[in-house]
Amino acid sequence: METILVLTHVDETGSVLSKASLEAVTAGVELARQHTAKLTIGILGVDAVAAAGAVAATGARLLAVTGEAFAQPRYATDAAGCEALCRAAQASIVLAPGSSRFTRVAAGVAHRLGGFIDTHITSLSSNDSVDATRWFYRQRVEATISREARPLFLLLDAGTHAAFAGEAAAAQVEAVAVTLPTVRATVEGLRSPMRDAQTIRPDAKLLFVAGAGWTKKQPDGQIHVAEAGELILAFLRLSGASLGSSKSLADQKAEGEQSVLPFLTHMNQIGQTGATPRHAKGLSTCCHGEEPHVVGWRFIGDRRAISLDPNCGWTRGKADVVYVADAFPVMAKVNELLEAKKA
Ligand SMILES: Cc1cc2nc3c(=O)[nH]c(=O)nc-3n(C[C@H](O)[C@H](O)[C@H](O)COP(=O)(O)OP(=O)(O)OC[C@H]3O[C@@H](n4cnc5c(N)ncnc54)[C@H](O)[C@@H]3O)c2cc1C
Repeated sequence: METILVLTHVDETGSVLSKASLEAVTAGVELARQHTAKLTIGILGVDAVAAAGAVAATGARLLAVTGEAFAQPRYATDAAGCEALCRAAQASIVLAPGSSRFTRVAAGVAHRLGGFIDTHITSLSSNDSVDATRWFYRQRVEATISREARPLFLLLDAGTHAAFAGEAAAAQVEAVAVTLPTVRATVEGLRSPMRDAQTIRPDAKLLFVAGAGWTKKQPDGQIHVAEAGELILAFLRLSGASLGSSKSLADQKAEGEQSVLPFLTHMNQIGQTGATPRHAKGLSTCCHGEEPHVVGWRFIGDRRAISLDPNCGWTRGKADVVYVADAFPVMAKVNELLEAKKA
């Protein structure tokens, strides 16, 4: 019989579970129900005990490693904390969010426990065993993995489960002692880009993709890159959308071609050689919708595109709705309407 541990961590506040952690809790609750297995939730963070109330309704055994050593993500301390939680829980299956904090340490922790790890898991199902699903080859092939090795660590991709939302309650939390290693890395502070400069927003409902057409000669024979940049940034500000890019547009900067949109980097690139984000909706603008780009849209729910070309890839079955139109006036009008709605 399986025993299940969900490893979780707090967010930047230090006392609230991260959204990805709550998603892992949902996965753990479902899996424990399917296996009638014992469920334990391990929480790591500077004030892990305060965070525990949010998952008290699961009825799971709650373990915490807490204190100043866990105020900042750091390999040595996080790995020691996770290892202590795993040893205390004696679990055969360990679920954890595929966050940057846990992705860094999970393989090392699995090794210390003599276990095995699979990453980028998108769903779990049960027969006699635990089956985990993940995508390979840039989201083209979906595989179901089943292993006999235990403990089995499974890192879950964000956005694949609903965040656990039980009634918060007072929780009985067992503090787990951690033998800390010598700490050589100290965190002196955080430097993050201005809020406006953060164009990649994984939690946004909408993905807005800019294609190379924004920087091409327009029907008047001129390029209008500055205007394109203003329209795109205004839309991001008004809608809260996440910004994606085609490869052609992202490459222009790297190759030092004509003046391009300075807020775009390869981190924004969507597609075969880019990212495959998860958003409820997507709007592509001035992008041709070629297969190597659209393969990155696999997890976008409602797909729409604005393109001048009635024969572009989007019109050939890749989008739900295509507006064959000039994106400059269309986006200017959309921004105007959004501005009016906000006022
Ligand atoms: C191995 C490999 C991997 C690749 N990986 C990726 C990847 O990860 N991501 C990716 O994006 N691409 C990838 N590509 C490249 C991909 O095949 C395309 O070349 C690229 O997506 C084209 O970008 P685009 O549609 O923005 O530009 P273009 O093909 O130049 O299309 C621009 C479009 O904008 C339209 N347009 C112009 N002005 C306007 C206007 N005012 N209003 C509306 N529409 C307008 C034009 O009609 C045109 O359809 C890859 C290619 C290869 C070979």
